[in-house]
Amino acid sequence: MTLNAHVQQEKKALMQWLIRLGEQIQDGTVILDATSASPEILHCNEAFTKMMHGDADVLKEKQLHHFNDDVTQQELYQRFYFTLATGQQQQLTVITKRGDDTTFWNEVSGYPISSTQGDVLLFFCICRDVTSAINDGVFSNIEKDVYASIHEERSLQSTLYDVCEQVRLFMRRPVYTVICLKKNNQFYIAGKNDTFKQWHERNEQAFRAGPYIYDEEEMIVSNRLWHHNRTLFQEQDIHCVWQQRINNQQQRMVAHFSVYVDGSVRLTAQERMYLQRVTNLLNVYLQVQQQKEEIERLAYTDYYSTLPNHKYFTTSMQTIYRQRKDGHIVILEISESQHIIDLYGREGMSRLMEQMANQMQQLVGEPILLARYDNASLIVCNDRQYNMKKLNAHILDNLTSAAYELKEHKMYITLKVGVSKYSAETNWEEAIHHAEIALSDARKSIGTVMRMYDESLKQNLQKEMDLLTHLLEDLQQRKLQVYLQPQVDLRTGEIVSFEALARWHSELLGFVSPAEFIRVAENAGKIHKLDMYILHLVLEWQSERKRKGLPMYPVSVNISADHFYYPTFVEDFTKKVDRFNIEHELIKVEVTESIELNDMQRAKCIISELTELGFDVSMDDFGVGYSSLSYLQQLPFREIKIDRSFINNLIDQRMHAVMRTIVQLSKDLSLRSVAEGIETPEQQQKMLDIGCDIGQGYYFYRPMPLHEIDDILYKK
Ligand code: C2E
Ligand code: CA
Ligand code: CA
Repeated sequence: MTLNAHVQQEKKALMQWLIRLGEQIQDGTVILDATSASPEILHCNEAFTKMMHGDADVLKEKQLHHFNDDVTQQELYQRFYFTLATGQQQQLTVITKRGDDTTFWNEVSGYPISSTQGDVLLFFCICRDVTSAINDGVFSNIEKDVYASIHEERSLQSTLYDVCEQVRLFMRRPVYTVICLKKNNQFYIAGKNDTFKQWHERNEQAFRAGPYIYDEEEMIVSNRLWHHNRTLFQEQDIHCVWQQRINNQQQRMVAHFSVYVDGSVRLTAQERMYLQRVTNLLNVYLQVQQQKEEIERLAYTDYYSTLPNHKYFTTSMQTIYRQRKDGHIVILEISESQHIIDLYGREGMSRLMEQMANQMQQLVGEPILLARYDNASLIVCNDRQYNMKKLNAHILDNLTSAAYELKEHKMYITLKVGVSKYSAETNWEEAIHHAEIALSDARKSIGTVMRMYDESLKQNLQKEMDLLTHLLEDLQQRKLQVYLQPQVDLRTGEIVSFEALARWHSELLGFVSPAEFIRVAENAGKIHKLDMYILHLVLEWQSERKRKGLPMYPVSVNISADHFYYPTFVEDFTKKVDRFNIEHELIKVEVTESIELNDMQRAKCIISELTELGFDVSMDDFGVGYSSLSYLQQLPFREIKIDRSFINNLIDQRMHAVMRTIVQLSKDLSLRSVAEGIETPEQQQKMLDIGCDIGQGYYFYRPMPLHEIDDILYKK
């Protein structure tokens, strides 16, 4: 546009006036020629020259967008000029590049300056460096993001990735940001942005290696290359690396934060300040994260051992279950747990569980979901369709054949294992319950046993529970009875003593065999109640006879293994007998041979104590177990009761010989031998021939209620 002389004059005068105005303003001012299609700089004040790190002559005749950063679009300026040309004020915030290639946020306020005719002749722009204000804003964004991520429990990885990305955006030029965390004394990259992605992936080690400047608080490495990675970084035209270590509360380095800057431009003081603030923020974030991890670790770890706990198991199960896979729940329990706790305490038990878990992991060969279920059991989820037969044969065999070591003692264990299946249809929580039921069933057997859950187990359990409830109720109401079965002199048939046997005629269930209800009471840990009740009835009967001055007979009572090892058994037993004022010689204690007499030392103490108090102890069901003979020599029994199965087999010549030896041996040890279950006169004769003194069985008498016994004794 060509201007007439008058307008030229006016433009010049306006310019002079604007220059003077500019000199009085502290911000940078620029006067642009509005009459040109691409407005160039006619004048700038000193403040602007300073802002640009340049000199005024160089700046003149340039256009504002020449100072643009690559990122800023030229269109912005087009629109800016267009609005000004229509006579309206306008503001623009752009990244501006200085002569030395550094950048800053420039807030440009433009004012159109018009002639008296109303034509816009000049643009007057006031420029402010608003970088620090913007940076504050940017920083508070990153801060908000990080705090939100803590609140929303976002993953560490995604939060650190975001931080790196924000830093990259902030820097407004190609930079590569990396956050490395320390784990097991090694750094791994926990956050990064995708700049130089391919190059980075090839040379990950160089970044992971971390600061080359550990020992310094903060340091800018610029144009100073460091030995082994020197060529690598040079290749990528990286001459500036900003790195800072992140320490934990104990001043140990837990992470490092690095910014690799492309090209040779150094970081500005502002950028360094920003990075410092990000480092501080990271520091806080990582500490919070660490505390959270610690709390989580504690919540998911067994209190006494390093093993994951039940909560960990159920939480992980939820994830596994969501994947809709089929699998098995396996609960493995150490049978000897009570012993181990007695000997080595809970501490020892925990060490043993850890050893077992390790062994299990090694045997399976791949990571499995495993946790401590309770004191003596591990729970395992087999979601890999690991063959259950293989588990049984291979893993259980190995777990129980290896020796475990506790406080320099070697030990072997046996396991009870309950297994159940879960699938997309069955609930896994129910599966855990089923595995428990299978385990309960496994506990009924001796040695290492694995049981797979099936419906009948649950039904049996329900039946047992019902039976137990009725039994305990009837016991409470004294509805159980005692029957006595006479024991006779095999030579004369004369009654010499009795065995007391529990009888239960339940109103609801009818007659229940002792074999059944005794087992249920034993499993439920209630057998001592029943034993003591039967003893009570026997003592009542005896004291009644005593009161009447009738002849007195010794009576044997059965004591279950569980009860026998009860800490206060001897004391309670003696107290009860003494309360009735019955001579100790009139009460005998029968313990079954299948009692776990493997705790030989304890058994010996208890038997000796009873014998010293005057109670004879009898070994019941002799010959059913394997080590009968060895027990005989070691434990101070007074009597053996030869099991019915032997007597049934007397026709067998070899059995006959074994029996003769046993009876002979017991005679040598001054033991009385009682033959159980004699049903025929032949059996009576055979036992006599062998040298047995006493017999008990249907051939002589059946177990009978007390009044019938009184009748028989009366008739004698
Ligand atoms: P046990 O101690 O071996 O008792 C002998 C069992 O053999 C009794 O069975 C008795 O009725 C049976 N019997 C006796 N003579 C003969 C015979 O000639 N032929 C046959 N076939 N059987 C004979 P019962 O009364 O059914 O008791 C079963 C088991 O229950 C007992 O075996 C004992 O272990 C246990 N038991 C009974 N009462 C009590 C008790 O009060 N406490 C404890 N802990 N266990 C008890
Ligand atoms: Ca018995
Ligand atoms: Ca018996």
